[in-house]
Amino acid sequence: TAPLKIAIIGSGNWGSAIARIVGGNVAKDTTGKFDKTVRMWVFEEQVNGRKLTEIINTDHENVKYLPGMKLPETVVAVPDVVEAAKDADMLLFVIPHQFILRTCKTLAGTIKPTATALSLVKGLNSPEPGKIGLISDVIKEALGIECGVLMGANVANEVAAGEFCETTIAFRNRKGSAYRDAIQTENFRVSLINDVAFAELSGALKNIVAFGAGLIDGMLGEKGGNTKAAVIRIGIMEMIDFAEKFFPGGKRETFLESCGIADVITSSYGGRNRKVAAAFAANPDKTIKDLEAEMLNGQLLQGPGTAEEVNLFLKQTKREGEFPLFTAVHQICRKEIPVQALLDQLRNHPVHQ
Ligand code: NAD
Ligand code: 13P
Repeated sequence: TAPLKIAIIGSGNWGSAIARIVGGNVAKDTTGKFDKTVRMWVFEEQVNGRKLTEIINTDHENVKYLPGMKLPETVVAVPDVVEAAKDADMLLFVIPHQFILRTCKTLAGTIKPTATALSLVKGLNSPEPGKIGLISDVIKEALGIECGVLMGANVANEVAAGEFCETTIAFRNRKGSAYRDAIQTENFRVSLINDVAFAELSGALKNIVAFGAGLIDGMLGEKGGNTKAAVIRIGIMEMIDFAEKFFPGGKRETFLESCGIADVITSSYGGRNRKVAAAFAANPDKTIKDLEAEMLNGQLLQGPGTAEEVNLFLKQTKREGEFPLFTAVHQICRKEIPVQALLDQLRNHPVHQ
């Protein structure tokens, strides 16, 4: 059989870290399973007067989104998404969730019909108020192909640096083994499961919880250990409750995988949502958009957007009161309530009744 061609759709902080892993694995592969070129879609921009694609293809480094880390020469940056995905057997989607609909529309009808996809995108689809769906379903429906997910406790800079960690790949019918082979390394260990919906919901909803944990850091600093632990625990309870109520059929054990508790922990200590939330709590005059632009150099937060999409759904279905943490984080992001009100909202949480 012909070697499998892999394309990476996205090249931000996580996209570049995963390109480093996949590009390294295909370079080392001696079984002939994978094609030796991995195309990576780069949303073109100028960096220091040069095109980012040209920098990546010449210097083998994404100097803007993953500076200081070399990319293997097997990774080729392509500015046109259709060109990047063309002929690929395996498509790894790794873009901020706000761009997924547009990108899928562009790709519809252009990809190999036998291809499959893996979504590394942490976020949800909110097609209209009162509806909420999975990004993996958006990809599946737009492109007419199977789509699994990779979600885990994977702060991109640490993964890129080769620090030991785990991740979760969820694919229906356990079809994800080719993805595991392309992605697993000595220090990036994959568990394969089949609960796509709960794995994806964990990855998306934890961004709201990590944002809440960051608000506690900004308010209380080192005195806030117990409070932050409470936010993490209550957050996990709301994540499970949300998944079980609105996406029934998944398994509670999925929250014990890397995509569940472990991701909430690492994101609540070392993630970008945490970092910007802490700054927001300490500088209430600034907006999240200002802080994101000042602090992240083009990287994009997923927590506030996901909180808004979840809130729109909960408000429309009159279920806001069942998710006080998700609701409070959204209202704080919108400056509808002060940061300090987070704890008032949690005091009367259903878990204490
Ligand atoms: P990022 O935050 O670095 O995002 C910036 C990317 O968005 C850049 O590549 C930029 O070119 C691109 N972009 C900007 N405007 C665009 C447009 N109009 N259309 C398409 N692309 C555009 O990206 P990331 O960290 O790779 O995050 C992608 C996904 O991976 C997110 O859902 C995130 O939650 C998830 N994730 C991130 C990490 C992490 O540590 N960074 C870890 C795990 C999962
Ligand atoms: P942030 O987007 O908050 O940095 O989270 C990264 C992540 O998903 C780690 O697993």
